[in-house]
Amino acid sequence: MTLEIDVLTLFPAMLEAPLGESIPGRVQARGLAAVRSHDLRRWGLGRHRSVDDYTYGGGAGMVLRPEPIAAALRELRRPDSTVILLDPAGERLDQALARELAARSHLVIVCGRYEGVDERIRSLVDRELSIGDVVLSGGEPAAIVVIDAVLRLLPGAIEADSTVDESFGHGLLEYPQYTRPAEFEGRRVPDTLVSGDHAAVRRWRLREALRRTRARRPDLLAGRALSDDELELLAEIESEEAEGGSRA
Ligand code: SAM
Repeated sequence: MTLEIDVLTLFPAMLEAPLGESIPGRVQARGLAAVRSHDLRRWGLGRHRSVDDYTYGGGAGMVLRPEPIAAALRELRRPDSTVILLDPAGERLDQALARELAARSHLVIVCGRYEGVDERIRSLVDRELSIGDVVLSGGEPAAIVVIDAVLRLLPGAIEADSTVDESFGHGLLEYPQYTRPAEFEGRRVPDTLVSGDHAAVRRWRLREALRRTRARRPDLLAGRALSDDELELLAEIESEEAEGGSRA
């Protein structure tokens, strides 16, 4: 199945290069997804294809008018569509949400600009999505983030193991990764990783993933059921740290 994504934007060119390279580019070249950008001005009003206007009540900045977006959505929406408005007030993107979107067949993504979109647009979309508690100048960089996160999760996009083992795959941050050289500026790769003992490597990775998550994102651990093995490793980490142990 091909995941189709239509992006409504005032700056279609902003999406082309980032989504044409690397994994998003390969995913599209292999027919797993098709991303199309549409210039909102195509549905703009009057001779000047106007899409924005002053805000009622006064204040700085322009707001995207509802009619061009509504007309575009009438044309782009299909029975299987999920229409997403990018907005700082939306639900926060995370890996679970990216997985949910990767299972859809058609996404329509609306990029706001200026002060955002007319409030009445919210009733025309299925979801509102934020990429974090930060304000961007437009929805395009957020659209790139959302689309990149979704495309790499499509079956066949990358090795299935990579997306399970990485951060948030098991509800934990990823364990530390090392490559050559075995020693860099006096710091050696942990002995277990070069031991060739696969069971010991697996246990080391789980322990370090737990250590890092506990130190940096305790909220992830609090919201996750822990196996007996994980509880035992966490107890080891706590006693190591009580004795002045290693850094996460
Ligand atoms: N006035 C708006 C506010 O204070 O919430 C911010 C508008 S922002 C300058 C313009 C557009 O960028 C938004 O309509 C939205 O599409 C996009 N945008 C900005 N920050 C975003 C975020 N964190 N997540 C998703 N989209 C964002």
